[in-house]
Amino acid sequence: MSISIIGRSIAESATLKLNETFAILKAKGEPVIHLGGGEPKSKAPIDAITAIASHLNTGEVRYAPADGTADMKKAVIRYTMDHYGRKVEPENVIVSSGAKQSLMVALQAILDPQDEVIFPAPYWVSYPEMVKLCGGVPVPVVPEDGTFTPRMQDIVQNVTSYTKAIIINSPNNPSGAVYPESFIKEIVEFCEKKNIYLIMDDIYHLLVYNGVKVANPFDYVKDYSDNSKLIIINGVSKAYAMTGFRIGWAIGNKKLIEVMSNIQGHQTSGPSVLLQKAAIGAINGVQSSIDSLRTTLENNRKVLVAQLKAFSGVHLLPPDGTFYTFADFRAYEKDSTKLSNYLLEKVRVLTMPGVEFGMEGFLRISFCGSIKDITEGIERIKWAIDPNSPNELYIGERKLVRDWK
Ligand code: PMP
Repeated sequence: MSISIIGRSIAESATLKLNETFAILKAKGEPVIHLGGGEPKSKAPIDAITAIASHLNTGEVRYAPADGTADMKKAVIRYTMDHYGRKVEPENVIVSSGAKQSLMVALQAILDPQDEVIFPAPYWVSYPEMVKLCGGVPVPVVPEDGTFTPRMQDIVQNVTSYTKAIIINSPNNPSGAVYPESFIKEIVEFCEKKNIYLIMDDIYHLLVYNGVKVANPFDYVKDYSDNSKLIIINGVSKAYAMTGFRIGWAIGNKKLIEVMSNIQGHQTSGPSVLLQKAAIGAINGVQSSIDSLRTTLENNRKVLVAQLKAFSGVHLLPPDGTFYTFADFRAYEKDSTKLSNYLLEKVRVLTMPGVEFGMEGFLRISFCGSIKDITEGIERIKWAIDPNSPNELYIGERKLVRDWK
């Protein structure tokens, strides 16, 4: 069988694979706990449900324009005004099947083979693979040990004549770090000066805690004209708990959005009109679901951070945003894949190995599940890896006996 070079270079999504393993174990009745999740457990906003239902009831579900419906673009323009204080035109907006697709078509629109894309580590698992899908070269930049915030000088050092774009994701998946305002200012100004695309993946920007403020890149843009190379990515998946609706969007200069629309038009066409209706309902409807999600997550965060802080040997920088913690388990095990497999096998707790996010020895542990799962999950992890823990642990009726060191 002949497979393309690009096809062969793409790794399976480790997070999706672990989710599948989890589903198989659960279906078998195993007492599994998912601490690796990437989606809130709350329901979609009621305004999203009524909007999609009433369109469905018309029985007329047709193709949508390749770049999104006019109503959806209006909703995105409103969202951009509300959250960024910036008025954009419909021609600055493309709506896609998830933020993932917006990112992908943005990269396809700007990258030539061998072009380099810089992004700070730890990074979202899909960035390197998306860049490779375009024939580009991913250039992760690792932070100083003990931090999750990139240093401008480290990014600058990695810029070459092939650098086409920098991707910044703050609040960050997996670390939960919110990059300081000073860094965002510097990177916006640097990219503008050097004529490098700056892709801000803001998918978590509404999920921040303790009054932390996410910097607004538009505050530092000097020239937001048709030549601007700033691209903002967003969507309804995280803040509106609408992961399965698959609606995301990008804001960018008109020419770029036109090219992205051409690509998307041949790739998948516009996202389903039904799902766009749901997203419009969410954006234009009552916004209280975001506040209640934030309150739930803030509470979960407190519990998880307290438990990880009390876990001797584990080092944690508490997250300011998202619903992830990225904890350093190197004192117990340096190979994060081995550790993650071990925890799933021995105590049926799913965590995501840090190596998939570009930092070995860490585990991504989510707080988007229930407090019960968080508490019990961390207790099980502790039992499995702490040599001082007792010999036995009960999971429901099941007695586990420690027969390993
Ligand atoms: N960017 C980041 C950093 C993410 O974590 C995710 C989802 N895991 C996405 C983009 C994609 O979101 P969507 O569901 O809108 O495709």
